[in-house]
Amino acid sequence: MAKITQPKIIPRPEHAVSRDNIDDTALKVLYRLHKAGYRAMLVGGGVRDLLLGHAPKDFDIATDALPEDVKKLFSNSRLIGRRFRLAHVFFGRDIIEVATFRASQVDENKNDIEVDRAHDDSGRILRDNVYGQLEDDVWRRDFTVNALYYDIADFSIVDYTSAMDDIKNKVLQLIGDPQTRYREDPVRMLRAIRFAAKLGFTIHHDSEQPIFELGHLLADIPPARLYDEVLKLFHSGQGVVSLQLLRKYDLLQYLFKSADDALKQGNEQFETFIHLALESTDKRINQGKPVTPAFLFAAMLWAAVDKLSEDLKQSGEPGTIAMQNASSMVLSQQVRTITIPKRFSMVARDIWQMQHRFKFRHGRRAKSLLMHKKFRAAYDFMCIRSKAGEVNDDSCEWWTRIQTLGPQEQDILLKPAKAKARKKKTASKDK
Ligand code: ATP
Ligand code: MG
Repeated sequence: MAKITQPKIIPRPEHAVSRDNIDDTALKVLYRLHKAGYRAMLVGGGVRDLLLGHAPKDFDIATDALPEDVKKLFSNSRLIGRRFRLAHVFFGRDIIEVATFRASQVDENKNDIEVDRAHDDSGRILRDNVYGQLEDDVWRRDFTVNALYYDIADFSIVDYTSAMDDIKNKVLQLIGDPQTRYREDPVRMLRAIRFAAKLGFTIHHDSEQPIFELGHLLADIPPARLYDEVLKLFHSGQGVVSLQLLRKYDLLQYLFKSADDALKQGNEQFETFIHLALESTDKRINQGKPVTPAFLFAAMLWAAVDKLSEDLKQSGEPGTIAMQNASSMVLSQQVRTITIPKRFSMVARDIWQMQHRFKFRHGRRAKSLLMHKKFRAAYDFMCIRSKAGEVNDDSCEWWTRIQTLGPQEQDILLKPAKAKARKKKTASKDK
């Protein structure tokens, strides 16, 4: 894509971005920067989503004010970031991110920009604080549709990369040479998939081809960053499509190796299970219900945990211990790739451990299962396994019904099997 130095300016009457749809907090920040004499633009997902008629997840602001200037202007702000220095402006629980325009290449002709850039041997950007102007900032953004700027000075949109055409044609394409851009930051491959899934866009041929060759670069991405990215991929409401695309581009192996192996080995039951699990998460998200990363990790790692715990059982370990050991082994392997915060891995363990307890329907064991803090997640998980053909009794139906009953009726149903048998005997004697 050739660099266009003259942008297209789309005046307010010719585009669909309205201040009515921009959060008041973002508008406040834009206006204050503008009044202080700085350029103040909404950029990225906010502009893209508003043009597509979606509700933006957050509003990102770009400005020519340096981070320190932003900090001075907003007492409710903090500077963050090592790789990129950004200002976060706080409004209660809302955070508006304000980034200073940055250049994508060191411009030898400019002496007014601070140079603070570093690459590693594979071309990856390690630090990137080369400040510049709007016309520099455009080229370091990832996709054309993420490089549209809404100017608070006159409410126009500034388009350097023919992004408006890509929005219209629903095409995702990288700015610049795709190989170079993926090498600079391999996470862009995952972002391509995420945006394609979330927006229903197709990835431009030139931007999709290098993914097949460069996927392995994801192996060097820090686990904490992959954790953030994985949640965005699977908690976007389009998790099913995200998985399809990860498999299409053969990237699943760099996120969840064991799940990828199971799918590649033709484990159809797991394939159905993971599809149903993601479908149920998508449904919850699209209905505005809460979801937990614990469920996602529990599902993604289930094939490995299930297989390993069976193997350990075969070799003589008691069921509960086998499951505990399998869980620990699979989790410790997985966290080398993706960070899993303890509070979520604990819940994933609970979900797995509870799976073999659904067959006990009487007495204290059953009662304590029903009362377990994570019963609901484990039950959902079991019902999905059941739908995938993994549970060969009516556990899903039985545990569904018991939840519809009041406490007394539940107690009757959960009575110890022996007591029930005794009662039956006495009743027949009395006859
Ligand atoms: P959403 O917030 O809906 O997930 P977004 O496009 O706003 O999508 P963010 O991660 O919030 O994504 O980033 C804001 C903007 O910053 C992007 O639109 C893009 O212009 C730029 N950006 C983010 N990450 C990268 C990256 N890895 N490489 C280049 N530009 C990036
Ligand atoms: Mg954003």
